[in-house]
Amino acid sequence: MIGFTRGAAPSVLTPSRVQSWTARWVQRVGTRATSADFQWPTVDQRPLRDHLVGPLLALTADHCAYCDGHPIDDTQTPQVDHFLPKVRHPEHAFAWANLYPSCSACNRAKGDHVTEGALLRPDEPDYAFERYYVFDRRDGVVRPNPGASPADRERARVTIATLGINAGNRPKRRVAALLRAERDPDALLDDLPYRFVVADARGA
Ligand SMILES: [Zn+2]
Repeated sequence: MIGFTRGAAPSVLTPSRVQSWTARWVQRVGTRATSADFQWPTVDQRPLRDHLVGPLLALTADHCAYCDGHPIDDTQTPQVDHFLPKVRHPEHAFAWANLYPSCSACNRAKGDHVTEGALLRPDEPDYAFERYYVFDRRDGVVRPNPGASPADRERARVTIATLGINAGNRPKRRVAALLRAERDPDALLDDLPYRFVVADARGA
C-alpha cells in the first residue's frame, strides 16, 4: 500500500541459481504440479525463503507490501508472496521483481487469482498511495480515489477486492492504528502499522 523502490536482487539469487530453479519448477508445472507442490530450494542448509525474508522486509520497513500491516504476523513468519502466481507464471517463481513480503491474510486472500495488469504493485513506477486510494478516517475503509482517472480507479478497486483490504476487522484495526498514532505523535512512521492513515497528516 505504501510505495517503495526495489533495489538489486540479493546475492543469494545468482542468475545461474535462478535459471536452474526456474527450469525445474517450469518443468514440474508442466507435469501438473500445483502451488501446494512448490518448495523453496535449499541454500546453505536453509530454505531460500529464509534468505529472502530479510531483504524483502528491508524494502517495506517490515510492513506487508499489500496492506501495510506491521509487524507482519506476530505469531508466524512473514510470507514471501509471488505477485504473479507461481503456477500460472512458473517462469517468474524465482524472479526478485515478482516477490513481495506479505502478511498471511493478504497472501491467503490473493491466492492464485489472476491479477495481471490490474493489481497494483507498490514498487511500480509512479505508484503512490494517494494516487489510487483515499483512507476514510471515520470508518477505516480504503476506497479508490474519486479524483483518479477511471483506469486508476479500476485498478484500485481490483486491488482492494483481491487483497480483501476492507474485509473483516481490517477497517477497525486501521482506525485503532490512527488513534494510537495520534496519541503518540512522536512515534516514527516506520514503527506504525498502516502508515497511510497518518502519512498525510505528517506530510510523509
Ligand atoms: Zn497484508
